[in-house]
Amino acid sequence: MSQLTQFDVLALRREFPILQQEVNGHRLAFLDSAASSQKPRHVIDCLEDYYRRYNANVHRGVYKLSEEATFAFERARGKVARFIGAASPREVVFTRNTTEALNLVAQSWGGANLKPGDRILLTLMEHHSNIVPWQMLAQRSGAVLDYIGLDGAGRLALEQLDQKLDERTKLVAVAHQSNVLGTINPVAQIAARAHAVGAVVVVDGAQSVPHMPVDVKNLGCDFLAFSGHKMCGPTGIGVLWGRRSLLEAMPPFLGGGSMIKVVELEQSSYADIPARFEAGTPAIGEAIALGEAIDFLDSIGMEAIFQHELELTSYALERLGAVEGLQLYGPDSATERGGSLSFTLEHVHPHDVASILDGVGVAVRAGHHCTQPLHRHLNVPATTRASFYIYNLPEEIDRLAAGLDKARKLFM
Ligand code: PMP
Repeated sequence: MSQLTQFDVLALRREFPILQQEVNGHRLAFLDSAASSQKPRHVIDCLEDYYRRYNANVHRGVYKLSEEATFAFERARGKVARFIGAASPREVVFTRNTTEALNLVAQSWGGANLKPGDRILLTLMEHHSNIVPWQMLAQRSGAVLDYIGLDGAGRLALEQLDQKLDERTKLVAVAHQSNVLGTINPVAQIAARAHAVGAVVVVDGAQSVPHMPVDVKNLGCDFLAFSGHKMCGPTGIGVLWGRRSLLEAMPPFLGGGSMIKVVELEQSSYADIPARFEAGTPAIGEAIALGEAIDFLDSIGMEAIFQHELELTSYALERLGAVEGLQLYGPDSATERGGSLSFTLEHVHPHDVASILDGVGVAVRAGHHCTQPLHRHLNVPATTRASFYIYNLPEEIDRLAAGLDKARKLFM
């Protein structure tokens, strides 16, 4: 494979303290970034700096520390807004993660807008966090769920869109990129067709925002959810972006401090967006450190990150394609997918594959990856998944392939 020229990956790896260690006597090859990415020194230092130097609650104190924390917290919101092309930082709601962001839409928008007989359209490749909140909403509202199926290569069967979309469809929720199949879905096309019947479009960006340039204007969606911890940021901080007109019309999600204007004994009036959706003390340091993670990603460039992962994915498809008895799920062309590769190995349980790989310092994940309906569709209880990020190297894919050969031989 050609040497990666987009950016200096070896230099970049030095920014990640955790990658400098050995696991089971081997240098760590971390191939589980789809679950959670590693954190660069900048982000770790930023979090520590907040707790050491200016930790204070936001939006309340008039003293210096609180003002500094508030300024940094709101500046982070601005960075998120710029990063995804939002019209205004007011459209950025801080949540705990993608899951909470999707639940916020289901409870708040869904609770106010859905009635019996309305339809919610999902896809068979969704993560549980983009299924279960809609099931709960359907149970509460009397709305009906439907799913777009997949073709044999793990792409959405888009011809089903026109069959399933009609004026009863009030909401379409789709992953931008599958965490299992790697498939990148044509969200702009889906959004345009959904809008034509008046449906609202929710995009699960957990696996796309960390890995490619994402601009909500180009996606044409109404809501976008993603998690800080998958994009070099800390856990405990996520984002819901929503179109301003929709957010402004939505009732609160959680009630409590910070989300109100006036509280009386029997009732309250609510704050403007985004505060209306941020009850209680937020994850202040984590939001600020997410802003730092965005600066870090921007300093590399999202297009360069996408290209790097495209090269890694092409190489992995070639190397894994040569492993005997390996069945890969999802598109076999790197241009249709991101760097999340799930597979089974003949005669070896996916968890055994992962354990053997761990023995040679290669960290991958095995299981259903929170996509039980997808695995049922694939007719396998579990898969092993390798996923790539900015710090991965072709030689780590060589070690993955060698580990898989070893596993196959052990179980032959
Ligand atoms: N959607 C997708 C596609 C994911 O990969 C994940 C994380 N595995 C989630 C949603 C949920 O993210 P979180 O656990 O951070 O809420």
